[in-house]
Amino acid sequence: MPEITLKVDSAYPEDQGNGKARLDPSAMQALNVSPGDLVRITGKTSTVAKVWRSFESDWNMEKIRIDKYTRANASVNPGDRVTVEKVEEEIPATSVTLVSPSEISAAFPDEEDDYLISLINFPVSLDDIIPIKTFHPGPPLEFKVSAIEPENACILNKMTELVFNDDDEFDGTKAITYEDIGGLKGELKRVREMIELPIRHPELFETMGIEPPKGVLLYGPPGTGKTLIAKAVANESGAHFISIAGPEIISKYYGESEQKLREIFEEAEEEAPSIIFIDELDSIAPKREDVNGEVERRVVAQLLTMLDGITDRGQVIVIGATNRPDAIDPALRRPGRFDREIEIGVPAEADRMEILQIHTKDMPFEGMAKLKELRSSEPSETVLEKALADYEASRDKLLWMLASQAKGFVGADLAALAREAAIRALRRQIDVADIDNEKIPEEVLRKLEVTTSDFILASRE
Ligand code: ADP
Repeated sequence: MPEITLKVDSAYPEDQGNGKARLDPSAMQALNVSPGDLVRITGKTSTVAKVWRSFESDWNMEKIRIDKYTRANASVNPGDRVTVEKVEEEIPATSVTLVSPSEISAAFPDEEDDYLISLINFPVSLDDIIPIKTFHPGPPLEFKVSAIEPENACILNKMTELVFNDDDEFDGTKAITYEDIGGLKGELKRVREMIELPIRHPELFETMGIEPPKGVLLYGPPGTGKTLIAKAVANESGAHFISIAGPEIISKYYGESEQKLREIFEEAEEEAPSIIFIDELDSIAPKREDVNGEVERRVVAQLLTMLDGITDRGQVIVIGATNRPDAIDPALRRPGRFDREIEIGVPAEADRMEILQIHTKDMPFEGMAKLKELRSSEPSETVLEKALADYEASRDKLLWMLASQAKGFVGADLAALAREAAIRALRRQIDVADIDNEKIPEEVLRKLEVTTSDFILASRE
C-alpha cells in the first residue's frame, strides 16, 4: 500500500476542528485518494483525517496541513514529518465512547443537541481528541475517544451511538507544547538538549561518558515563559511534571518543609522520568548570608541533600526559575547541582509577533464573517483562496503593527492584550442580558470578530 512522508503545517484558519487534512494533487495521486477519502496519519501516534485539496500556493512542497487536534492525535508539531497512507475500508462506527475534559465536566452536551450533527462523517481513531462545536462562544469542547465499536471503525455517521462517559476525565489538548512558545528559539534548543535529550536518550550520555544535568536554572523577568518552557519540555519528553512555587514549600512548622521536599523528590523518582519545576527558587534558597530564618537554612540544606541524592541521572531533572539569579545560594549553583543556566529574556519584535500569533490563533479577526459567508456561497477555489490570503494578510498586518508598538511587553503582557481585545469584541455583540440565554444564537456567533480598534483600545488599558 503506498505510503508517503509529508511535512506537517498548520491548518487554514477556516479548517479548525473539521478533521480535514489538506494535501496537494501530487500527494493525492501518490496515495491514490480523492477529496473526501480517509487517510491514516502517523507521527509519534496515529490518527485518521479526511483528505481535502490544498490551495495552489501550497503545491509541490510535500506538506500536509492539519489542525491542532489532528496534530495532537498524531503527536506532532508543525515542521515534524508524518507518514500518510490511504484508509482502504471506511468502516462506520456503531458506537463511540467519549470522555469529557476535566474542566467542563459540568457542561455536558445533551445527546439530542443539534451540534452533534457536526460529528457526522467525522473521522475517528481510538484515543483521538475530537472537537465538538457548540453554539457557545469560545473554542469547541474537546472529547477523548475512549472506545470504538467495531474496533477498526474510522468514521462516525448518523447511526453512530455516542456514549458520554463522565466517570473518567482527561486533560484536553491544553497540554502545553513547544508550539505554544513564541520566540525563545535558541533558549528552547538549549533546554531541549539539556533536558529532553537525556530523558529520551539516556544511552547517548552513557555512551559518551558524560553526565546529564540534574539542575537547570532559568532566569529572567516574570512573564517571559519560564514556566511555559518547563511544562512544554515535560510534555514533549513524556516526563512526569511536578510544579511547586518556592513560597509554598516554606512552612513554619518544624520539619514540614523538608518533608514536603522529600515527598516531591520521592514522587519524582517513582514516576521517573520526571521534571521538578521550582518557581521562585530564590525564595526558598536565598544566599545564606541573607537568611536569618532557621527554616530557610534548613530548606536549603534539604534541597542540597535531595539534589546530591538524585541517582537516576538524567531521569529526574530539577528546573529552577528565578528573576534574581544572584540572590540564590551559591552552594546551589555548584557543579552537579543547578550548574546550567539559561537566560529567558524580554522578547524582541519578531518574537512578540510570534507570541501574538500564538495567543490569537483561535480568534476570528475582522473579515472572518465575510469569509464564512463567502464560503457558504460555494465560490470557485481561486476566489476563496484569494479571500483567505487577503484575510491572513490583513490579520498579519495588524499583528505586526501591535508587535512593533509593544516594546517592553513580555509574553504574559501580550497574552493579556489578546485576551482583553477579545473580551472587547465579545462585549460589542453580547449583552449582559444574553448571558441567561441557554444558547447564543448562531448569527450572533458568526458576527463575532476582533477588530483593530479592539486591540488598540486594549493596549491602552
Ligand atoms: P514566567 O514563568 O517566566 O514568569 P510564564 O511562563 O508563567 O512566565 O508565562 C505566563 C503566561 O504568559 C503564559 O502562560 C503564556 O500565556 C504567556 N507567555 C509568556 N511567555 C510566552 C512566550 N514566550 N510565548 C507565548 N506565551 C507566553
